[in-house]
Amino acid sequence: MIPYYRLLGVSRTAAASEIKRAYRELARRYHPDHHNGNAIAQERFRLIAEAYSILSDPEQRKNYDRFGAAGLTTVTSDNGMAGKVGRLVTELGAILESRMKRGPRRGKDQRVSLEVSLETACMGGKRTVDFPVTEDCETCRGTGAQPKTVREPCHVCDGKGNVRASWPLPVNEPCLFCGATGIVALHPCSDCNGHGKQDGLIHFEVDVPAGVTDGRCLVIRGQGEPGQNGGQTGDLFIEIQVTSDPWRKKSGLDVTCTVPISLNEAVFGGELDVPTLDGGSVCVRIPKNSRNGRVLRLRGRGAKSVDGNRSGDMYIQLSVEVPKLSAKGQKLVKTLEKESIYAERTEYRAYMKKRQESQE
Ligand SMILES: [Zn+2]
Ligand SMILES: [Zn+2]
Repeated sequence: MIPYYRLLGVSRTAAASEIKRAYRELARRYHPDHHNGNAIAQERFRLIAEAYSILSDPEQRKNYDRFGAAGLTTVTSDNGMAGKVGRLVTELGAILESRMKRGPRRGKDQRVSLEVSLETACMGGKRTVDFPVTEDCETCRGTGAQPKTVREPCHVCDGKGNVRASWPLPVNEPCLFCGATGIVALHPCSDCNGHGKQDGLIHFEVDVPAGVTDGRCLVIRGQGEPGQNGGQTGDLFIEIQVTSDPWRKKSGLDVTCTVPISLNEAVFGGELDVPTLDGGSVCVRIPKNSRNGRVLRLRGRGAKSVDGNRSGDMYIQLSVEVPKLSAKGQKLVKTLEKESIYAERTEYRAYMKKRQESQE
């Protein structure tokens, strides 16, 4: 039921002349030209104009009196029911939705994911996360009224925020005219178009603890979206994503770094730089005659435990890379074979031969 009589502030028995007078006065007061064409002001004006168009037409008024809005289904112009419902859903409906519950409301929880490097995951560090929030408009402090302008009790609901429908059921319905707030800002705030809300961005600096693992969720109480009308602030959930590192793997507190080395380095030894978790590097000696897969250990150079009391180790796994060879290189390898002693290989061949002989 659209409270047309209440919209015009007249009784159900008002005479046509009274309705006309009431309309003229309200139309002057709520004319959108006085409110910089604000969308909410326009809708209020349209509601009033609509109430007048119905109540000033004896036939429509009679239908409305008997069947409420349902009696007006034949009205199909842009300013008719369908058009109005559409508009209400957009503008006044949006305020209505945000203010239906006038009591304290807890702010929303926020979920963000945070990518951290292997170093940060192992050693901890400070990082910043940004996330969007809806907050009270700074200009009007959430009231929806242009600063220093009048806010007055809504004449449609007498400041109660809801109106009692008489048809089809006598129930309280949220007042559309004031967005259920009971208060009408005659001059809606131009920064938030009268909604009282604006989009904001929160920057939060988070202490990533040493030893976090991929997929772990940090819960920061009271750092989500701000509450409304004195409600609690929501919580912030930060899901940690450890970026993959092409050469290093973390397992518990230990970090293994796989380093490719050449045949020459495997035979004669050498030196190589390996990355450390403080962001720097350390020079490591490759021992002579290192076979593929040999592991060197750097004690205490792994990740810190969450309590900071223990550190893991860093392992350097040598991976002997078999080179791609030119024709000349291939010839040289064949020559090299003749000059090489393969002790293990020889042992293996002997073992297989013996095995086959015993089966015969
Ligand atoms: Zn505002
Ligand atoms: Zn109202």
